[in-house]
Amino acid sequence: AAKENGRNAFVFYDEKLHKKLSRKMIIESELRQGLIRHEFTLHYQPKINVQTLEVCGMEALLRWNNRKLGSVSPYEFIPIAEESGFIKLLGSWVMNEACRQAQTWKRNGIFQGTMAVNVSVHQIKYGDVLTMIREALEKSKLAPEQLEIEITESIMQDVDATSVIFDALRAHGVRVALDDFGTGYSSFHVLKTLPIDTIKIDKSFIDDLSGVKEQSLVKAIIDIGRHLQLEVVAEGVEEEVQLDALAAYECDTAQGYLFSKPLTVLEIEHFLSQHGSKAL
Ligand code: C2E
Ligand code: MG
Ligand code: MG
Ligand code: MG
Repeated sequence: AAKENGRNAFVFYDEKLHKKLSRKMIIESELRQGLIRHEFTLHYQPKINVQTLEVCGMEALLRWNNRKLGSVSPYEFIPIAEESGFIKLLGSWVMNEACRQAQTWKRNGIFQGTMAVNVSVHQIKYGDVLTMIREALEKSKLAPEQLEIEITESIMQDVDATSVIFDALRAHGVRVALDDFGTGYSSFHVLKTLPIDTIKIDKSFIDDLSGVKEQSLVKAIIDIGRHLQLEVVAEGVEEEVQLDALAAYECDTAQGYLFSKPLTVLEIEHFLSQHGSKAL
């Protein structure tokens, strides 16, 4: 019986593995098709100045609605796009589209704050990200000062190459933000080594601001940001009490469902017209 169970268990896990692998393979091939079929769109989530409650920035977030799979989360397809190298094409599409949209909004007097674009570590390591960004800026005519790129701390795997790229971007006027700050192994090492403009405190630190320990950590991160003259953004702000705490700690910027989920172009234009320049 044990042998039978063992075999069954093996079959069971094999099927599960097979399902997982085949979904991955479908995603991999559908990604390429998807770009051709215009299945990708960008949603935009506002960033809010904590003191004035004005909308000071926007983050572009990639959305994929596939003909076979329906809506697929970036948490699932971005790693697959990275592994297959497709992120280079996809990331370039995102950069061009976000810059084009930001410049359109600026031209029409709808929005003139910063446009933040997530850039994957793989794009930095394997792609010519500098050329890609310069071309997107030239094509769209967006001022480099209006663009910010968001990168996670896992970038530390390749410090030397990264600091050269960050230096070049910043010399060009583009801002650099460290995304999901505090979740990596080397948050302080990153701060010490890499030239950056902004830190985004990860949502996991913002989620529970009722505990003394959590409060101390967030206060400390904000203080570090102030001493290093960096902009500090809190991500995943969902409740008024969190915003009140962040205001008391003098955090610069907040982003989260409290103000708005990521929205389509039409929805965000409506949001901006409803709220004027104030977000609450
Ligand atoms: P991220 O850059 O850290 O973006 C924040 C994520 O949290 C987004 O998920 C956003 O929709 C979500 N979020 C924002 N406010 C709240 C909140 O108050 N509560 C909760 N529960 N969630 C909130 P999303 O859009 O699913 O994106 C997931 C991740 O996928 C992003 O994390 C980013 O790492 C990656 N990603 C998205 N778009 C792109 C892209 O164009 N290029 C690359 N390389 N990565 C992208
Ligand atoms: Mg981000
Ligand atoms: Mg983030
Ligand atoms: Mg995050």
